[in-house]
Amino acid sequence: MRFDIEARDPNTRARAGLLHTAHGIVETPAFMPVGTAGTVKGMAQEHLEELGVNLLLANTYHLYLRPSHETIRQYGGLHHFMGWPHAILTDSGGFQIMSLKGLGQVTEDGFHFRSHLDGSSHFLSPERAVEVQLALGADIIMTLDECVGFPSSHETLRRATKLTGRWARRAKEFWLRQNGWDSGFGVRDSATSDWRDSLKTPNSRLGISDSQCGEFGIRDSGSEIILPEPRVPSPGTRQSSLPNPEPRSPTPEARTPKSELFGIVQGGTDRDLRRESAEEICDIGFEGYAVGGLSVGEPKSETYDIAGFTADLLPAGRPRYLMGVGTPADLVECVARGIDLFDCVMPTRNARNACLFTSEGKLVIKNARYARDPAPLDPVCRCRVCRRYSRGYIRHLFVAGEMLAAILATYHNLHFYLDTMRQIRQAIGAGDFERFLSKARAGASSGTPRT
Ligand SMILES: [Zn+2]
Repeated sequence: MRFDIEARDPNTRARAGLLHTAHGIVETPAFMPVGTAGTVKGMAQEHLEELGVNLLLANTYHLYLRPSHETIRQYGGLHHFMGWPHAILTDSGGFQIMSLKGLGQVTEDGFHFRSHLDGSSHFLSPERAVEVQLALGADIIMTLDECVGFPSSHETLRRATKLTGRWARRAKEFWLRQNGWDSGFGVRDSATSDWRDSLKTPNSRLGISDSQCGEFGIRDSGSEIILPEPRVPSPGTRQSSLPNPEPRSPTPEARTPKSELFGIVQGGTDRDLRRESAEEICDIGFEGYAVGGLSVGEPKSETYDIAGFTADLLPAGRPRYLMGVGTPADLVECVARGIDLFDCVMPTRNARNACLFTSEGKLVIKNARYARDPAPLDPVCRCRVCRRYSRGYIRHLFVAGEMLAAILATYHNLHFYLDTMRQIRQAIGAGDFERFLSKARAGASSGTPRT
């Protein structure tokens, strides 16, 4: 997976880059809206395009249970199913299982869990998590990991971190086999050792040259992206259980998988465990690396410190994804520490709860003080909600329980997040990110709660 770092801030670890996926180029640092069940709640796909979203996250757990990955496979994958020709990242499903208190149990083999929908029993192994995500056909897929909360005992953290490492290796082996490669692990075959060794070096693993990747040919979000025709299953015909990797070359090195696999570093707030985990995950070798296990209750200063500490342990040339973080201030702080990708339910979930992000801080629109306020949600926002509607009208929609309330609030909040990322990228490109960071710290970009 080609990842070009185009600019580095001279005074922080911030970098701006281009992540080349099978469904277009993603400018980083990027924020991924969360499309839990194949939809960002309240937003039609054309709204997301209008906002400039070119990478979104979908939850494997929810899609696996409903409508099922097999159903989505019949449509040729999630892109076709949801009418989204841009990039998609799926999580492994593990975090959701562990979040459903009492419904999941972890063993060496994987997660045993019961559906929150109907109580049915299911099992998700590292291999199964990859298989389900391959059926969904996301551009970026994640290894199964065990994320534990804060605080956890050192023993619990250590056990979960080690298990995450063993699962990452199993996921990688399975992913390699599904893409037509032998796993390359634990085999001493001199005839194949060269390319197997190269598999462990992420940057050279696929042997992709610039010209090979150039066929994507998409340099900006405005370019038209044309999807191949969806595969239409004939009645009674079972689809192949896995996507066709469509190798571009007879040599294993030259194949480009449709779904690139990212590994996850765990270890909680324990630096020794973080270091061990990063070494193990990097040794296995992935196309990108995620920092998991943060924003689970630890102090904010620890979130930032561990995110930066872990990012420094990861290969400089690979994308780094901080999972489940966070507020606009978190994004700025963690970009400064070398993070490239983010996801969080906060802008969309808060919007549905009438909590708006603005340049002046959070605004709880249900407050009576806005009942006759003709001003837009955010006086400096250029989104189409702020250009057209007043605080008083949007408050009325929330009070009256109108569905348009959540739609307009979600649109504005996503615009705020995406615009923050745009400003971050521009500041990095202009060599001006440190000033942007100082301004954000002073409260200009995040602010304090406003009621
Ligand atoms: Zn707005």
